[in-house]
Amino acid sequence: MNAQICTWKYGCKFAYSITYDEAFEDLLAHALPIHRRYNIPGHLVAVAGQLGQVRHVPSSSYSGKCRHLSGAQMRELIVEGWSVGDHSMTHGDLNVNPIAEVLESKRVLENALGQAVNVFHLPGADFSFAPAARYFESAGFLAVFFADDRVNSNDPDLFGLSRTLVYVRAGQPEFPLYDPFPRVYDPYHRLHEALDCGGWIVDLTHLVSPEPIALWKDATPEILDARFNCVRRVGGGWEWATEPEQVIDYILMRRAATLTPIEWGDKHSAWQLKLADVPTPVKSRELSATLELSAPISNPSIWIDRQPVAKFDRQDDRNVTWTWLARDGQRIELRWQ
Ligand SMILES: [Zn+2]
Repeated sequence: MNAQICTWKYGCKFAYSITYDEAFEDLLAHALPIHRRYNIPGHLVAVAGQLGQVRHVPSSSYSGKCRHLSGAQMRELIVEGWSVGDHSMTHGDLNVNPIAEVLESKRVLENALGQAVNVFHLPGADFSFAPAARYFESAGFLAVFFADDRVNSNDPDLFGLSRTLVYVRAGQPEFPLYDPFPRVYDPYHRLHEALDCGGWIVDLTHLVSPEPIALWKDATPEILDARFNCVRRVGGGWEWATEPEQVIDYILMRRAATLTPIEWGDKHSAWQLKLADVPTPVKSRELSATLELSAPISNPSIWIDRQPVAKFDRQDDRNVTWTWLARDGQRIELRWQ
């Protein structure tokens, strides 16, 4: 009998997230209903200095045309399970004023949202990363995203996470996003790559509108629907479709956790959970574990500190998988009849 912490929550085989750069208001009308239909929470990539304002970024194709979500609008999405990442103060070059772009932007966003902001997304091209890099960890971020077209492994460098685009139609992308994005259409949608490597694919989108402005990085509602449909179809129930903070928290929890066998009986076995230090900003402290049974047993149940776990995430003759709020020192017991 072998108990182990799952690579991904609920015993899923890969993780999928989607992010909205610039966090435009248009997504309330054109993306949110699709998210609700597929039960996939999104992630906003917010420009801290322009909350609720019409965009004014000189180099941006959206300047003067799209409005950023306000703090109040983002808080409503957070209630629905969405999360928010920091996309700097001005969407400018991080090197010019890294204190404002990296540290103050975090504080401004946290004040507007009333909660910690744990993720930073590099604005513009990724070459701006190096000089500002030393500020990310000291500012208290748990992770930094690039947009360099990779599928993340299941044990990634959290300060070098990647985003890519899940193209679902021949003809996409109409244009390269920027180097290194000059991709041709990928009939496997990168989702199969994530499934094969048991990794984490983070999908990248900007404006969602029936009338996109930048076709190579925006989506129409139809394209977004097709993407989610593809995620659910390829995943077949083994996909963990969630916002990125949940995934980052889970990775940090998993890294801190060890299960040690402590008892073997006729009708029970028990393990102890050792949980090393988890960074304070981690919000979700749940873990999933799978128990591989050496032979089928009848009526297996899991007890954590002598309280029964209400339900299994997955169960068959040889495996049971469950999720719980983890604390250091917990006693985890399997009972059967
Ligand atoms: Zn941006």
